[in-house]
Amino acid sequence: MNWHLLPLTEISQLLNTSPSGLDSITVSQRLVENGKNVIEDTKKKTVLQMVLHQLTDFMIVILIVAAVISGVIGDLTDTIIILVIIILNAIVGFVQEYRAEKAMEALKGMVASQARILRNGKLIDIPTADLVPGDVVALEAGNIIPADVRFYETHQVKVDESALTGESHNVEKNPDELPEGEYPLGDRINMGFKGTSITNGRALAYVVATGMKTELGRIAKMIQTDEIVTPLQKRLDAFGKKLSVVILILCLVIFTIGWLRGESILNMLILSISLAVAAIPEAMPALVTITLALGAKRLAKSNALIRKLPAVETLGSVTYICSDKTGTLTLNKMTVQEVFETKDAESLSVFANGNTLLNAMALNNDVSKNEDGKWLGDSTEVALVQYAYDKDVERTWLEKTAPRIAELPFDSSRKCMTTFHKTDKGILAITKGAVDVLLGKLVENQNSHISDFEHKADKMAERGYRVLGYAIRLLPKLPKILNANEIEKDLTLIGFVGMIDPPREEAKQAVKECKDAGIIPVMITGDHKLTAQAIAKQLGIISSAEDIVLNGTELAKLSDDDFEKIVEKVRVYARVNPEQKLKIVKALQDKDQFVAMTGDGVNDAPALKNADIGVAMGISGTEVTKEASHMILLDDNFATIVVAVKHGRKIFDNILKFIKYIMTGNSSELWAILLAPFFGLPIPLLAIHILWINLVTDGLPGLALASEPSESGIMKRPPRSPKQSIFANGMAIHILWVGFFMGSVTLGMQAWAIHHEHANWQTMAFTVLCFSQMGHVMAIRSDRESLFKIGVFSNKPMLVALLITFALQFMIIYVPFFNDIFKTQPLSLSELGITLAASVVVFWAVELEKWIKRIKSKRKTVQQ
Ligand code: ADP
Ligand code: MG
Repeated sequence: MNWHLLPLTEISQLLNTSPSGLDSITVSQRLVENGKNVIEDTKKKTVLQMVLHQLTDFMIVILIVAAVISGVIGDLTDTIIILVIIILNAIVGFVQEYRAEKAMEALKGMVASQARILRNGKLIDIPTADLVPGDVVALEAGNIIPADVRFYETHQVKVDESALTGESHNVEKNPDELPEGEYPLGDRINMGFKGTSITNGRALAYVVATGMKTELGRIAKMIQTDEIVTPLQKRLDAFGKKLSVVILILCLVIFTIGWLRGESILNMLILSISLAVAAIPEAMPALVTITLALGAKRLAKSNALIRKLPAVETLGSVTYICSDKTGTLTLNKMTVQEVFETKDAESLSVFANGNTLLNAMALNNDVSKNEDGKWLGDSTEVALVQYAYDKDVERTWLEKTAPRIAELPFDSSRKCMTTFHKTDKGILAITKGAVDVLLGKLVENQNSHISDFEHKADKMAERGYRVLGYAIRLLPKLPKILNANEIEKDLTLIGFVGMIDPPREEAKQAVKECKDAGIIPVMITGDHKLTAQAIAKQLGIISSAEDIVLNGTELAKLSDDDFEKIVEKVRVYARVNPEQKLKIVKALQDKDQFVAMTGDGVNDAPALKNADIGVAMGISGTEVTKEASHMILLDDNFATIVVAVKHGRKIFDNILKFIKYIMTGNSSELWAILLAPFFGLPIPLLAIHILWINLVTDGLPGLALASEPSESGIMKRPPRSPKQSIFANGMAIHILWVGFFMGSVTLGMQAWAIHHEHANWQTMAFTVLCFSQMGHVMAIRSDRESLFKIGVFSNKPMLVALLITFALQFMIIYVPFFNDIFKTQPLSLSELGITLAASVVVFWAVELEKWIKRIKSKRKTVQQ
């Protein structure tokens, strides 16, 4: 349909709608006819694909083939068991992947954007998915256009259509129909397309197409989301490949030795392949995803919504948190505290009735009242409107004599806004904005008062007030082109208002916590330097004389090099333009800092994209910012960022513990089987034992490590460098030595049992290896504290996992049916006792390792 060529009357007829919107009955009909307004994801994996994915791993396929061959020429039960275990493994893998997928989907659902529309003449917010053709949407700067629309009212609207057309400049829009002709998308200037973003102005528009029928839907296949790989996963993947080679070589060695010693080739083949399957940590990257996704789910409960999974992993590395002031560090509950009127305000009598300043306050804003009589809009403006309202000055009533006919919307780079009103004295332009900005735009006859005004405003700012000025100008007629530079000059200041926005109590605590954790909190605001400084002091962001407060103009004057010299010391940026946030991010990153940056407006998007963690505001944030962010704060609260960092650190810790656990277990199996021949011992384990340990013993307690509570000093230690290897801090050594030790204990048990003629020596060795891992997992629950300090019972899922694992192990030792299958024999009470005693050794060994670690670090701190 050529919507851009039709006149508006025809459009509303075709869509059977009107500027007051659709009614709810029509909407539900159309929703059925047109479907939801969503772009379908064609790349999504089906359940079957997920299951197959688990079974098509190269080593698994080989193992299946080998097992089948062995079944055909030999023992069928073995083959069946191996297959059953592989399938169980696949099911476990699938369930986890599925859970992770669901968790991610749930998160995406929470991010779902809202559209502001008119229904039955009333403004309401609905999920964009529920839009139907004919709906009337109200759009403003920062919105992502939720469907394909035809504008019918625009005010200075500019749209960034690069997502669709690749053109990087902003397109200006207007409602007029286009003359007959061919127009590429970029030239249809009365249309707005789903997925593009409004960078300026506001508009009303009819929805003409939704979902897959939009232009975006047409090209949807090109924009399908890629699978996300986190830095840790990348590293694990690369490392896993190298490790696989090593393990395959070891397995080849084991195979050859066994063969030379006269074992059956087929048995040795299956044993070594099973060992390879068990020891190669191919599932590790997937498990990291699961842990991260579940971590993200938990973060959402703390009001931090993760949009990009890698953020969960990297949160713990943040060294600088650059936060907006208004609403994040403060409550965003503005109340007017002080009002100052200039002399000119009294002498100018533009308004028919009442006080000029109050009239201006009531007229110059975009605040509206909702159905329940609550003010909707920017909190600064709400405070001003409320103040005028309390003094009986109200917009609806004023607009009867001075209707608003045009506007220059607020823009945080300009730091002011202007509305135009038709009065019997001509066109009245009311400008409201930052006082220092207005003072530069005054008419000549006020120039002599500027320093006086400045002084009065500074006095207010020093008290932490946000000060907004009002100025007016009479124009003979409305200019054709509304150019801010042309219009916002020769203004007459009529007064200014001081408002207070108190700091958030919890932000004070969070600032302190940041500092303890080696993270530097930085305040960024469009507010005046003195206001910002006063609030920063109250919050504890500024605490020493060395802390620098910089304002936007000073920042603009600094060369990149000079700025980098001081950037690490700056604690407050005042009067900055959103564009300067990017400069701040880059300078900090050049200094090797890991930066979290918050933002809410459209212009913040580039900074958020470039930050290591871009944080968008859930309440006040625009969709464009949310789209550019890694994480969304549902409560706009600074303290939530700090909570997220803490969670991030914990999640990363737990992933490391998990890797430590699995790899140490694998290494112990390798050591045991590799070393046995050198002690003249028979191979201690069968293939099914290895697969069993891999499935049960490694699986359950490993997963439970994800529930480990955070280490006590987690917010007292410095951030971990994102470049640091996961095997640093003694992890590699731990994996090797504890694995070796565990393997040795197993072989020791085996040797002892054979020596004392216990026919079930294999069951004993198998059980020792299994139980030793239980001891190990308890010991590594904390990286340095003893288990008894963190509490044996402080991770309940772990206890459950251990209980189940014990029960399953007992089952295959004592239930005759499983004895046949797993080739095990029951242990006598004394044998069991000895096995348990041997298994505890590993636990104490690791406790000893941690003890030495604690002593060492204590010495280090004493030396410092
Ligand atoms: P902040 O980071 O504090 O939210 P903004 O970029 O939103 O800063 O605003 C910058 C400055 O613009 C404010 O200090 C204030 O002086 C002015 N300002 C803020 N909101 C409005 C508004 N709605 N109308 C006019 N001026 C405004
Ligand atoms: Mg603001």
